[in-house]
Amino acid sequence: RRKWKRVVGVLKELEESCETTVGRLKQVVDAMAVEMHAGLASEGGSKLKMLLTFVDSLPSGSEKGIFYALDLGGTNFRVLRVELGGQRSDLDPDVEQQPIPEQLMTGRSEDLFDFIASSLYQFVEKNDSVQSPITKLLGFTFSFPVKQTSVSSGVLIKWTKGFAIRDMVEKEVAGALQQALTRKGLNMRVSVLVNDTVGTLALGHYHDADTVAAVIIGTGTNACYWERTDAIIKCQGLLTTSGGMVVNMEWGNFWSSHLPRTSYDVKLDAESPNPNDQGFEKMISGMYLGDIVRRVILRMSEESDVFGPVSSRLYVPFTLRTPLMAAMHEDDSPELTQVARILKDFLDIPDIPLKARKLVVKICDVVTRRAARLAAAGIVGILKKIGRDGSGGITGGRSRSDIKMRRTAVAVEGSLYTQYTMFRDYLHEALNEILGEDIARHVVIIVTEDGSGTGAALLAASHSSEN
Ligand code: ADP
Repeated sequence: RRKWKRVVGVLKELEESCETTVGRLKQVVDAMAVEMHAGLASEGGSKLKMLLTFVDSLPSGSEKGIFYALDLGGTNFRVLRVELGGQRSDLDPDVEQQPIPEQLMTGRSEDLFDFIASSLYQFVEKNDSVQSPITKLLGFTFSFPVKQTSVSSGVLIKWTKGFAIRDMVEKEVAGALQQALTRKGLNMRVSVLVNDTVGTLALGHYHDADTVAAVIIGTGTNACYWERTDAIIKCQGLLTTSGGMVVNMEWGNFWSSHLPRTSYDVKLDAESPNPNDQGFEKMISGMYLGDIVRRVILRMSEESDVFGPVSSRLYVPFTLRTPLMAAMHEDDSPELTQVARILKDFLDIPDIPLKARKLVVKICDVVTRRAARLAAAGIVGILKKIGRDGSGGITGGRSRSDIKMRRTAVAVEGSLYTQYTMFRDYLHEALNEILGEDIARHVVIIVTEDGSGTGAALLAASHSSEN
């Protein structure tokens, strides 16, 4: 019995250190808005990079024609073709996906881009005339950190996600692809180079013109939003026809002392390949949530016998993937049979009492609730920065409900939001709590699908007259 008490103590400590009261979330909101400001004020002024995208107009629905996109950002790359009729409609792009041969991820850039150009050539051949004298336009989504020099060019800062093509670092990315297309004899121009969040924002805006920001919560997490150019202080004299530009926040790297941090987070960070980096992401995204839960179970197992003898699997990082964690969290069977199965099959923990299985569900709940609520605070931070959180308009004794709050949409993508119901519910709940229901009514979350690909094609379309 004393052992059980120990475990309850560990849980209580976890709950306390993951505490996300509305008060604390509001501090995170303020910190996010402050850091955004700092990142816009000067290069390196904040952990938020606040990268310029040079995307100064978003698709409206009036785009016409056939456009292509290439989406490169992980183990697979995708090519895509979309036909736009000049009116908002359900887009039904043709998409083909291919894995990138591993040797190309660490070889020479020419080989990688020649490979991609060949795939594109074959893809175009299926639908259109490759020989056509009309130049086809391509949106290129490249989900690695890029320093943009224009809407269609940028320099790779560093590789992530297992790519290590040395001759590409600090080189112009769109140019490398363009040369490969030319070598292949494909009459196609890379007309925009964008980050995946920017694609999501573009697709969101195509469907709903009130869309001002986009958030991705998948393996990692990031956000971008529409900013007034005069607020981008670090780039004096930045002029666009629209008066605005999309800013890629790289918010995964956000940090604030107000973030509720546990000893498990500290260890996860210290043992990661990128310590002190991506602190916000490590509390929120799919890559990490399961591993936080594994660490809590390990600690409990070490301190008591409620999980039987300590399973050696518990020591292996990332053995408990986030989809498994979600499946345990959402197990609604009275005997928690999913939890029992997953613990046995994946962590080698068989036959534990129902009480211990309930404990595991509780751990998943605490970790996911914190993640979703922090993501919500991040979103409100963006709204606050652009004056859409309802706080700006309060004057002379008017109550909050009197404020004319403009309808505001945020496009969201990623499996954490779309596949993990509890995560989504907690995120919505926190938005309501932070904003208050009167304001929250005006904030709509729209789920876009495959914005990273389709959105890039739309941007190729909406920027086609300009370059
Ligand atoms: P991307 O890799 O492009 O971000 P996704 O948006 O699909 O792709 O996110 C994948 C991440 O989401 C993975 O890290 C995975 O752990 C997590 N994930 C996938 N399905 C689920 C699910 N049903 N519940 C919780 N997390 C999930």
